[in-house]
Amino acid sequence: MSDTKKLIFATENPGKLREIKAILGDLGYEILSMKEAGIDIEIVEDGETFQDNALIKAKAVCKASGHLALADDSGLEVDAMDKAPGVYSARWMGRDTSYDVKNQAIIDNLKGVPDEERTARFVCACAAVFPSGDEFVITQTMEGRIGYEIAGANGFGYDPIFYLPEYGKTSAEISPEEKNAISHRGKALRKMAEMIKKVDGLTEE
Ligand code: IMP
Repeated sequence: MSDTKKLIFATENPGKLREIKAILGDLGYEILSMKEAGIDIEIVEDGETFQDNALIKAKAVCKASGHLALADDSGLEVDAMDKAPGVYSARWMGRDTSYDVKNQAIIDNLKGVPDEERTARFVCACAAVFPSGDEFVITQTMEGRIGYEIAGANGFGYDPIFYLPEYGKTSAEISPEEKNAISHRGKALRKMAEMIKKVDGLTEE
């Protein structure tokens, strides 16, 4: 049998899918989004952690497709806000509220908070569930600080307030290539690619 193995990624975000295909492209799998794989299921992300939510999505997609399924869940933790918005990053202040408004609200929340207490991180948990039932979760972070103003037009979401001291810029001011090399998602996906290679090496004759 020489059927190409399929890997289904639980996302409909075209930007994420491009990134995923670039990083996982040499694993010998045909990489498909849920839509491309013809999977139309409602997944309730009601986990309390990034890891829970990533696993909930990957398990549901593996069950529905019978193929290796991957999913990620990510968000921003602001230490001075008790790690909010955390797993609620996409929903925080309402899903339809613009990030200009959300970002300004975080800056306002941190009014008077000194540099050393403005620490924050982007977190990405990436889960893989194999048809055999084996499952893995890899978590990676990108550490930084909340800036004092919105800056930069690259990236998305909270990038314009996420200041990277080693660059002297926000993650919306560095190039997409620079961000991929250091980002929570880039690092988690590259580690996941290594993990899948190892698992396949062990399980294939
Ligand atoms: P999800 O993993 O697609 O559910 O994304 C969660 C949310 O976290 C996004 O909607 C953004 O608000 C935020 N987020 C995750 N990663 C990033 C990033 O790299 N830059 C900016 N915001 C991010």
